[in-house]
Amino acid sequence: MSSGDPIPFGRPMLDRAAFGRVADVLESGILVHGQVTPAFEAAFAERAGAAEAVAVSSCTAGLHLTLFVKGIGSGDRVAVPAMTHVATAHSVELQGAAPVFVDVDPATGNMDPEALAAVEGPLAAIMPVHYLGLPCDMARIRAIAAEKDAFVLEDCALALDATYDGAKAGTLGLAGSFSFYPVKHMTSIEGGMVTTNDGELAAQLRKRRAFGYNRMLGERARPGIYDVDALGFNYRMSEVEAAVGLTQLDRMDAFQAARAANARELHAGLSALDGLTVFPLEHGGARSSHYCLNAVLPRDGSVVRDRVVDGLKARGIGSSIHYPGPVPLFTYYSAKYGYRPGMFPVAEWLADQTISLPVGPHLGEDGAGRIADAFAEAYREGQKA
Ligand SMILES: *Cc1c(COP(=O)(O)O)cnc(C)c1O
Repeated sequence: MSSGDPIPFGRPMLDRAAFGRVADVLESGILVHGQVTPAFEAAFAERAGAAEAVAVSSCTAGLHLTLFVKGIGSGDRVAVPAMTHVATAHSVELQGAAPVFVDVDPATGNMDPEALAAVEGPLAAIMPVHYLGLPCDMARIRAIAAEKDAFVLEDCALALDATYDGAKAGTLGLAGSFSFYPVKHMTSIEGGMVTTNDGELAAQLRKRRAFGYNRMLGERARPGIYDVDALGFNYRMSEVEAAVGLTQLDRMDAFQAARAANARELHAGLSALDGLTVFPLEHGGARSSHYCLNAVLPRDGSVVRDRVVDGLKARGIGSSIHYPGPVPLFTYYSAKYGYRPGMFPVAEWLADQTISLPVGPHLGEDGAGRIADAFAEAYREGQKA
């Protein structure tokens, strides 16, 4: 990207290698059930430092599939942060279980362990979401999970390569689910991956992502002959998607280096602005995967977000909002469970006042500097008279 071009919040980074691999798959005629998906799974497991990686059709499918395989259902309660993508909570609802929303830490946007510890009654599972790529306080969360006899399922949609005490996100609980949506750290067009060190869980995820097929063993073992002894979905990943994903993995080191450098430069630039909360790149033992740089305007409303966003846009800088509402205050959840404004004060502040700035590899050489300059001007313009 050259100087002066508009900078969108995100852009998929596809190259000629991806086009070539996709053409190879299309020419082969093997679009599902081939060898590319297992190769992608193996490469991803290695990068994630996990024993197993199971490719699925999206991060949401991976979360839902894992809850399904673990038998989460009616009567179960699952802790979910109030500030997340709605997919985290929906995966619980889809199983007929109830999400129990927990407010977040104002310093990081991550599930607040104090609020989690204060949840009364049983929990079947806890779903920490590594908010915008910074791992949660997993030591506390795991301790609370052990007390409650709950398993931990990480929403790693934005946490590829993030670490906590040196271990990668996706290995910090029972399992983690990653997203390959076009503007995430890497893409497979649509797609997701569940990582786990539990081989039995991985085998069940593989079986249940594809209808519950059970390959026949013994004398009837031949292609096309199967029994079905369990319920399952069609949550498979296609060979085309896996081919794109493999080419992205080849470029991840370069992508992540660019993200880290951009995030550092932007963080330094924004930290000088009075009254602005800039979310940290590291916190305790957690190191971010740098999905974006999150800035939160003052709680007193002295800076008007729409004005800042418009000011950025006028200067050619795209931004995003994570997320436009605390999930419990979205109509579906507030109508069903009676959640009301005031119950999740930190999540509500973030929903109202947050602005997420791009740090992706699409920024190019001078992108982070241009965003920092544009933000400083737009921030001044956004002050209430
Ligand atoms: C994007 C995202 C999801 C959903 O990912 P899909 O691959 O689109 O299903 C879930 N959780 C979080 C935190 C996300 O950012």
